[in-house]
Amino acid sequence: RSFEELGLDARLVRALLKKRIEKPTPIQHVAIPLILEGKDVVARAKTGSGKTLAYLLPLLQKLFTANVDRKKLAPNVFVLAPSRELCQQIYVEVKSLLELCKVPLKAVQLNSNMLATDLQAALVGPPDVLISTPACIAKCLSNSVLQAASINGSLETLVLDEADLLLSYGYENDIKALTPHIPRSCQCLLMSATSSDDVDKLKKLMLHNPVILTL
Ligand code: AMP
Repeated sequence: RSFEELGLDARLVRALLKKRIEKPTPIQHVAIPLILEGKDVVARAKTGSGKTLAYLLPLLQKLFTANVDRKKLAPNVFVLAPSRELCQQIYVEVKSLLELCKVPLKAVQLNSNMLATDLQAALVGPPDVLISTPACIAKCLSNSVLQAASINGSLETLVLDEADLLLSYGYENDIKALTPHIPRSCQCLLMSATSSDDVDKLKKLMLHNPVILTL
């Protein structure tokens, strides 16, 4: 099936064509419709499988079709990844899709070298999509640059990318600082290259009745 047949917005399909991306990869084929439906998803997907677009395309589409007038006090989407390099790659992909689609949504990448004042400035607005390591979000919570209550009122989608590495890189406490503020209605997506006890732990901590995809 084509991207259109998976239910993807025409703007995103056109943006993909400009990037010469014409056919969904296997992970995109199964994940995109499920994520559009609002399901929590655990996907085993390696770098190179197209896993980034598998979650970004449907979550951006959900933002396109959301009520633009709603007031939000914190980002609607958090994408958490274990390294600054991966955060940067995800950010570049989001920016490029938003520009190609010409939608006035804002994405921001935080990194742990930023000063509290820079973090504060980055979150003014607030952005629609926040891409960060868990440590940096935990820092924003602990110094109230991000308000727990605002997260609870605004967060609609949470992605844990390379989830198999998040705990082994030492982010467990940072993730646990965020978890109590995630609203029950938030859709959670967990991407990981392998299945492990760590992935299982995160799954139990964050996801509700997820669909498990192993490709
Ligand atoms: P990832 O698995 O997310 O690291 O993506 C690996 C690379 O594949 C990236 O450069 C993507 O731009 C590219 N890519 C993602 N989806 C597709 C697709 N459906 N067709 C061709 N290339 C793709």
